[in-house]
Amino acid sequence: MNAEILAVGSELLLGQITNTNARFISNQLSELGINVFYHTVVGDNAKRLEQAIEVAESRADLIIFSGGLGPTKDDLTKETIARHLGVSLEFDEVALTYIEQFFAKRGRPMTENNRKQALILAGSEILANHHGMAPGMIFKNNNRTYILLPGPPKELEPMFQFEAKPKLAAMLNDGGIIASHVMRFYGIGEAELEVQVQDILDAQTNPTVAPLASDGEVTLRVTAKAETEQQAQQLIAAKVAEIQTLVGDYQYGVDDDSLVSKTVEMLVDNNLTISAAESLTAGLFQSELAEIPGVGNALIGGVVTYAAEAKVKHLGISQELIDTHGVVSGECAAAMASAIRKQFGTNIGIGLTGEAGPTAHDHQPVGTVWIGIAINDEEPLTYLLHLSGMRNTNRLRAVKFTCHYLMQRLEERGYTKRY
Ligand code: ATP
Ligand code: MG
Repeated sequence: MNAEILAVGSELLLGQITNTNARFISNQLSELGINVFYHTVVGDNAKRLEQAIEVAESRADLIIFSGGLGPTKDDLTKETIARHLGVSLEFDEVALTYIEQFFAKRGRPMTENNRKQALILAGSEILANHHGMAPGMIFKNNNRTYILLPGPPKELEPMFQFEAKPKLAAMLNDGGIIASHVMRFYGIGEAELEVQVQDILDAQTNPTVAPLASDGEVTLRVTAKAETEQQAQQLIAAKVAEIQTLVGDYQYGVDDDSLVSKTVEMLVDNNLTISAAESLTAGLFQSELAEIPGVGNALIGGVVTYAAEAKVKHLGISQELIDTHGVVSGECAAAMASAIRKQFGTNIGIGLTGEAGPTAHDHQPVGTVWIGIAINDEEPLTYLLHLSGMRNTNRLRAVKFTCHYLMQRLEERGYTKRY
C-alpha cells in the first residue's frame, strides 16, 4: 500500500503553522510498514483541492486528508471529495446528537453551520472524535482508501492512533498483526550505520528495517507482519539479533528510551550517585536528568561555574591550571569532575566545558567540548568532541555524549544495564 498525505489549509501555505500532522501520520504509517511517497499541502480552495486529489489518485492507493472538516465556509474537504467521487453527503445521527449535546451542555446556542460537521460521505466508516466535534471517515472507492481527519492535532492524533490505525492494520493484514520494535543507537553516524547493516537493508522483506536519524541519534525500526503477536515477535527478535552482531556496540536502548532515561535507569539500578559541574551546559545536564522520574535516587546536585573565576572560587580549580591549559581543556574538565565528585560525595562526578559558539573566547574552535567523568577514586576520564551544530544544539549534544560515554564506561566496569 502506498500512501499520500494531503494536508488542507491556507495557514500551512502562509507559513502560519507547521504541518505537524503530516509528520505524525507518516511516522504512524511507517510503523505499519506503509510507504509514504508524497506529502501534499493545498490551500482552502475547492478547485485546487480537487486537482490535488486527482494527482494523489494517480500515484497513491491510500490518501489521508488532514483538515477542513470544521463548520466554517472554508472547511470544504469532504464537500470536495464528495463532488469529485460523485458520492452524496448525509447526516450521521450519532455525530449530530453528540454535537447537539455538546452545545446543550455548555448552554451555548448551536448555529446551523455546526450541523455541517455531522455530514459524512455516504457509505463511509466513521472515526469517532473524542476531542472535538467533527468525526473522521474512512471511505473506500475503486480500490482506493480515503481517510479524512480533522485538522487540530489534539483531535487528529488520537483519532488516527486509536481509530484509524487499527482499521488500517487489519485491512493490510487480513486480520493478522503488525508489530514493530525500535533499536536506538548513539556514537555512530547514520551513513556509517547504514553501511554496516547494508546487506540487511538490501535483503529486507518481512521484517522490514527502516533507518531514521535525528538529533545526532540513529534508530532502526524493525517491523514484522504475522498471523499472531508471538510469531511477529519471533521474527523481530531474530532480525534484532542479526543487527546486534553488526552494530550492537552502539545500541543504547529500545522503543521510547532516551540516552538520558537509560543513564538514569542505569545509575538507579546500580545504586550510583552523581553530581555535575557545568560550564558550557550551565545546568542542562542536570536539568535533562531531572526530567526522568526516579532520578532523585541518583542525582545529588551540582554547580554552574560559567566564568573562570567561579571555577577557581567554587570548585577550587587552580588559577595555574587555567592559565596553562585554558578553561576549554581536558585538564579543566577532569579537575571539574573530580572537584564536584568530592564536594558532593558522589560515586560519579561530571565536568562539562566547551565553546558553544557562535564566537570563540578561549582560543579553541567553536564546537570544542571537553567532558570529564570521574568514577569513584579513579583518575578522571576525558573526552573531546568537535561539534558542528548551532549553540544550543551543541549544548544538548554535549549532554547526550556525556550520557553515552558514562554508560559505556560503567558497563565496562561491570555495572548492569537493562536491555
Ligand atoms: P476545525 O473544526 O477546528 O475548523 P478542521 O478540521 O476544519 O478543524 P482546519 O480548519 O483545517 O481543520 O484547521 C484547524 C486548526 O488545526 C488549524 O488552525 C491549525 O491550528 C490546526 N492544523 C490544521 N492543519 C494542520 C496541520 N497539517 N498540522 C498541524 N496543525 C494543523
Ligand atoms: Mg476549520
